[in-house]
Amino acid sequence: MMNAASDAAVRRVRTRYAPSPTGSPHVGNLRTALFSYLLAKRFGGDFLLRIEDTDQTRLVPGALKDIIASLRAMGMMYDEGPDAVSIAALDKEKYGEVPTDDLPSFSGGHGPYFQSQRLHRYREVVDTLLADGKAYYAFETKEELDQQRAMCEARKVPFLYNRQYRDYDTSEAKRRVDAGEESVVRFKMPLTGTIEADDAIRGTLTWDATSQDDFVILKADGFPPYHLAAIVDDHDMDISHVLRGEEWIPSYPKHIALFRDLGWQPPIYIHTPSVLGPDKKKLAKRNGARPVTGTIYDKQTGEPIYGYVDHDGVLPEGLFNFLALVGWSPGDDSEVMSRDEIIRKFDVSGISPSPGIFDIDKLYWMNGVYVRELPQAVLAERSLPYLQRANLVPEEPDDATREYVTHVLALEQERIKVLSETPEISDYFFLPLPNYNEKSAEKWLRKPGAKEYLSDLAALLVDIQDWDHDAIEQATRTIGAKHNRERGDITHPVRVAVSGRENGPGLFEMMAVLGRERVLARLAHVVSGA
Ligand code: GLU
Repeated sequence: MMNAASDAAVRRVRTRYAPSPTGSPHVGNLRTALFSYLLAKRFGGDFLLRIEDTDQTRLVPGALKDIIASLRAMGMMYDEGPDAVSIAALDKEKYGEVPTDDLPSFSGGHGPYFQSQRLHRYREVVDTLLADGKAYYAFETKEELDQQRAMCEARKVPFLYNRQYRDYDTSEAKRRVDAGEESVVRFKMPLTGTIEADDAIRGTLTWDATSQDDFVILKADGFPPYHLAAIVDDHDMDISHVLRGEEWIPSYPKHIALFRDLGWQPPIYIHTPSVLGPDKKKLAKRNGARPVTGTIYDKQTGEPIYGYVDHDGVLPEGLFNFLALVGWSPGDDSEVMSRDEIIRKFDVSGISPSPGIFDIDKLYWMNGVYVRELPQAVLAERSLPYLQRANLVPEEPDDATREYVTHVLALEQERIKVLSETPEISDYFFLPLPNYNEKSAEKWLRKPGAKEYLSDLAALLVDIQDWDHDAIEQATRTIGAKHNRERGDITHPVRVAVSGRENGPGLFEMMAVLGRERVLARLAHVVSGA
């Protein structure tokens, strides 16, 4: 088993996030990226972004933009990866527009970081393997392979390529390739014995050689599959630790065999646990697989799927903290931890081999903790877009409006879990008149005597000197005493009259923030009608 700390002492920690730009990443994909980021930061190393775009038929325009935007939104930008120059060289039709204004440049690094720009390098490695007799050309047509597959299916055994070209005459193979015949290159896996490979959290994994076949390392179109490209890149980019989803475990023997035959030292592999929804099913749109930022559209229904940060108003720091705990634990009970604390505590030994659960309720809860810690002015500033979208605050608010928003949200801060709740929680502060909850109005405003208390209170409030909590409370007491009523008999109707609802922050503080004008207008509205 590896010990991340001792290993780091001998090799600079370099990790990578290697998405295929075949769609926008969702939180589940980014959890593994976050683990890679954390490990690199823990040891003062480098976090790389590599774009695995060898399957050009599956490219989705816009995916690359969303990948970079998600890393940025989570506060985990890469230290090395695509820069403005390499992005400018991409075909915009295939990749979409990618804003590059503030991307750093990585000249002198280990680029290019797009696999599609590294084809010559893969060819070079494949040629070496061919020359060393460790790989061979195979000429089966698709139909022939389909036949082999069908035969295996009929015998109810897993399909393994029958290796018919493994010992084929190499000069004959070369002649056919030179003559332009279509071929692939396959890697010679060991025929007997076992293949062993270490996983930092699972120990040594063992496969029987008979369970493996000679897999393709160069396709007919000249592009390598993942199995070759990732290995070459992880080596060339000097990756020390590969963190990737556990769905890659079955292909792991291929990768380790390649490393060995190439004479390269493999990185340390850590297969990360899968991310499940609260229903213990694979994370999907239905149970939380949504983007961090941006909107994606369901391939089948066309329905929009919105981002946690920009749409829900989850704070990046809340999401960072929450996501770090999906499959990792610091070894004690700490849950709410700052970014720095998580980095300091992050250790591979805390990654669990069993699945992590992505539970939105827990995310919202944890985010609420971060919302409560925000300075009031910051909470207001970050909530403005949501209030603006709901037409509660103008596009270009003046200073007085900003200050008002700050006071309003300070009153509600305890109750806000995500910023998108702010319009619903606070709309009555901004609307000319609140939306009166019908039941609450019936219960408290139509009660005998209610209008009288309200009109008496209005008369007192017109004249109080300092419009503050204490003065408003005093006026309300005076009305209670005058009508010989309990405090609640007065405060409930007042609350419903000024806010339209029965629950909310402290009544007198709320009225103090609302201001005399709004309060009097609302009392007058209720007294005269409703
Ligand atoms: N392109 C692969 C994927 O998106 C990368 C896997 C890896 O991290 O090696 O699943």
